[in-house]
Amino acid sequence: MLANVVDFFRNLPPKECAQCGNKIDEQHECYGIYCEKCNVDFEY
Ligand SMILES: [Zn+2]
Repeated sequence: MLANVVDFFRNLPPKECAQCGNKIDEQHECYGIYCEKCNVDFEY
């Protein structure tokens, strides 16, 4: 049962910043499509 959950997350594409293409830390997922650095630069 748990193996299915692991496979599900493994199949998800790595989240990358839409601006610089750096991989976004999952802990910063709340920042949206930009990494923490680019999010600071843009400041919605
Ligand atoms: Zn970025």
